Amino acid sequence: MNPLLKNFAFVILILLAVGGLFSLLYFPSTTPNQISATQLVSDINAGNVKKVVVAGDTLNITYTDDKTATSMKEANVSVTDLLTNLGVTKDSLQKVQIDIQAPQESVWTWLLPALLYGVLPLLLIGFFLWTMMRQAKTGAMQAFDFTKARARIFGAEGHGKEKINFKDVAGLKEAKEELVEIVDFLKFPQKYVAMGAKIPRGVLLVGGAGVGKTLLARAVAGEANVPFLSISGSEFVEMFVGVGSARVRDLFSMAKKSAPSIVFIDELDAIGRHRGAGIGGGHDEREQTLNQILVEMDGFEKETGVIILAATNRPDILDPALLRPGRFDRKIVLDPPDVHDREEILKIHSKTKPLASDVNFKEVAERTPGFTGADLANVANEAALLAARYNKKEVDQKEFLDAIEKVLLGPERKSHILSKKEKEIAAYHEAGHALVSTFSPDTEPVRKISIIARGMAAGYTLQVPSEERKMKTKTGFMSEIATLLGGCSAEKIKFGEMTTGASNDLQRASELARRLVKEFGMSSLGLIAFGEKEELVFLGKEISEQRNYSEKIAERIDEEVDIIIKGAQKNAEIILLKRKNLLDKVAKDLIEKETIERAEFEKLIKSK
Ligand code: ADP
Ligand code: ZN
Repeated sequence: MNPLLKNFAFVILILLAVGGLFSLLYFPSTTPNQISATQLVSDINAGNVKKVVVAGDTLNITYTDDKTATSMKEANVSVTDLLTNLGVTKDSLQKVQIDIQAPQESVWTWLLPALLYGVLPLLLIGFFLWTMMRQAKTGAMQAFDFTKARARIFGAEGHGKEKINFKDVAGLKEAKEELVEIVDFLKFPQKYVAMGAKIPRGVLLVGGAGVGKTLLARAVAGEANVPFLSISGSEFVEMFVGVGSARVRDLFSMAKKSAPSIVFIDELDAIGRHRGAGIGGGHDEREQTLNQILVEMDGFEKETGVIILAATNRPDILDPALLRPGRFDRKIVLDPPDVHDREEILKIHSKTKPLASDVNFKEVAERTPGFTGADLANVANEAALLAARYNKKEVDQKEFLDAIEKVLLGPERKSHILSKKEKEIAAYHEAGHALVSTFSPDTEPVRKISIIARGMAAGYTLQVPSEERKMKTKTGFMSEIATLLGGCSAEKIKFGEMTTGASNDLQRASELARRLVKEFGMSSLGLIAFGEKEELVFLGKEISEQRNYSEKIAERIDEEVDIIIKGAQKNAEIILLKRKNLLDKVAKDLIEKETIERAEFEKLIKSK
């Protein structure tokens, strides 16, 4: 029952009881025969009345036949006066025995008013106070409950129909390969513990919205058949101080209880932002929550069997403390899907839909560069909706193609889609980077080239060091700068002019050139470091520089930077002009496949 209603009913009950008490006292249940004064007078005159007892203003009459009755008299008038005034003869009156009784003072006559006016209000006030206190207490209990992590659990047995496996995740091959080990650990933890092996506790899944971070995390839980506890970072950031950290504690204790298990923290950046980056110093709620996460992660026993997967699309703003060994020391990057992956994703999401024979997922995939997994799932769904609207029995290719537009124009699509021309430019740009890098001295091998838009960049060329390197040569730096400029050089060679797509490259190239001169002493200015760096914590990670050199030196620094950039640019152009055919070939391949892996790229270069 509603507590308010209950209280209300209670109050009504009390009032009823009090009312009952009243009526009991003031209106005795045995109401004797009430007669009027005139009736009394005629009765007396008739000689029927034996006795009249006067109690206050009440006259209790006893008849000769022992019947009784009552009557009333006015106050301040004696009975005899009253009766004679009304015409009782003296004779008859004498026959009647008249007793005057002191008015019966019942205890209640004074106690009840006292109770009513003194005690009852107190009781009522007390009652209200009590209910209020009780409510406050339950309120506090609710506030306490509120700290419980509202984690959604998909239990090992509760996976049911929803159970997701790696086969439900298209593409993301590398990510899956890395996660296989985690699955194995969750399945056979003893194997690893016996070997004294350290299993990563936290894995960071990095990728834009909708690339399948959540899906993959759930697939890991599904593969290992362990409970999946999921919570979003933004949920931690609630209004009460201390609630966030209490929730973290709760979440982890829940995870430990159901170990082996997976804790999934979505939007880690919502809590894991670089600490101390807030203006005004930062003992804020978010920071406490973050600290609690760190404490929990450090407190894990090796064999606990709880693995934390966290998703973010901003690994750069995460607090470095989160990335330390024993915490989120593994980073898995989820790339947006390329043509082939897009086709697979479409297939997965069309499995349950009746498809017409003309459906060609390859074509749909080719028309959807830049779409994420979520977008493609949306396309498949929109296609089915359209088909249903046209009362069709099957989903045709036409619906899929229409659905693309619908999703494209939909309000949710924010990421950049390349037009055909843009795709060509991006392909040449990335091919330029890759080729300059490959044919420059002292560089890292190209691991992957892609023209799938990622963040602000239209494409990217990945280079991974073959060995851990701490020291770099000037040659290496020069090659790096040339590689950065290779993108716009290729654009210039092919199209005669540059696009804005290269602006980030230029920024990075000039930054690097400046550091060569100012920090590394790699220019004709000699072995002097210029400028003192200072970290302004209160403004975030902003670095300010104190200039400790003259105007004249500043000019020379600019000159040196200019020389380095010009030199690198020339190198890049020479490399590309010499291999124009190869540039065309790589670019063409890129337009077709969107991503080229290291092996394919090396084959292309050798085939020359
Ligand atoms: P994120 O967590 O990275 O924002 P999700 O994992 O929530 O993205 O993905 C949203 C939806 O997109 C998934 O539920 C799934 O239907 C679809 N999806 C994304 N990536 C894939 C993929 N690689 N294979 C199949 N479906 C995918
Ligand atoms: Zn570039």
